[in-house]
Amino acid sequence: MKVKIILMTMLSFLVSSCLFLNNDRVIKIGTGSTAGIYYPTGKEISSLLETILHKEHVKVDYVSTGGSVYNIHAVLSGDMEFGIAQSDKQYLAWNGFGEWEKKGRQTKLRSVFSIHPESVLLIASLESGIYKTIDLVGKRVNLGNPGSGQLGNAMDVLEAYGLSEKNIIPEYLNASEAYERFLKNRIDAFFYTIGNPNDMVLNIVKQNKKINIIPLDSVSISRLVDKHSYYVEVEVPKKIYPTVLDTALKTFGVKATLVTSSDVDNHLVYLLTKAVFDNFERFKKSHPSHENLTVENCLMGLTAPIHPGALQYYNEKNLTRFIPSELIKE
Ligand code: GLU
Repeated sequence: MKVKIILMTMLSFLVSSCLFLNNDRVIKIGTGSTAGIYYPTGKEISSLLETILHKEHVKVDYVSTGGSVYNIHAVLSGDMEFGIAQSDKQYLAWNGFGEWEKKGRQTKLRSVFSIHPESVLLIASLESGIYKTIDLVGKRVNLGNPGSGQLGNAMDVLEAYGLSEKNIIPEYLNASEAYERFLKNRIDAFFYTIGNPNDMVLNIVKQNKKINIIPLDSVSISRLVDKHSYYVEVEVPKKIYPTVLDTALKTFGVKATLVTSSDVDNHLVYLLTKAVFDNFERFKKSHPSHENLTVENCLMGLTAPIHPGALQYYNEKNLTRFIPSELIKE
């Protein structure tokens, strides 16, 4: 038994050393559209990780991608070491639902921590005459690109209102394309699941484009939250978009989370977790949507087991008491 433990320890040391022996290694973090918050979040995590790895000459790359669903696929296929993904997608992948229905449970998925809350926003131009979700009928509406988190959320909203893609003129654009088309009046409205405040909405307002952010009614929100355990009711305060909102916006939301795979070496995940939480005040300043983060709430909203490398850090800092026991499996 003792020999086995010594051998296992030597093996794990060798595996973690390999990370540093290969000077050409590029560690990739999947983010989202450059118009979103995942991108600057990935940039900050990369910079913190690169600082901790500086002597090793390992590069860390934050890659603009299609979003949550793309990132989970990339992490599980080994194309990327880390990815930012909505908590609902993490749940669906782990349980083999939604986009993973055909593939089944994604048991290699691991969580590292959660980040900012995201809300499902439906933004419409004033001239479109859209004031309620039901007004979307017959309009040009961007639901989101395949690979994004918002596509599934937008479909769930349509369903809650008894609508489908057939009742609208659907578009499947990424957030940057949606932004361009919206400003040129080539789409009437778009869905975006995003933290607040976000630059896309602020930039649209700066361009003097008149918009409405459409609230969801409480019956539909209850329907969504009751049907899907991973959704929560949220309110976006008026002060976040003072020139657009007359009152707090009622909608539903999820959390941004950082995911990885059980194939990614413990030491790398340990270092990334350490890089972020040892510099938590700096991380919080990296985007206004991170302002209210606490270490404790960064351990909530996760479904996949915590990666052992992250767990090592949480153990060291006595933080495991904040983690639901079912996430501590290995
Ligand atoms: N929630 C979006 C997605 O999963 C991305 C939002 C962002 O980039 O901040 O695709």
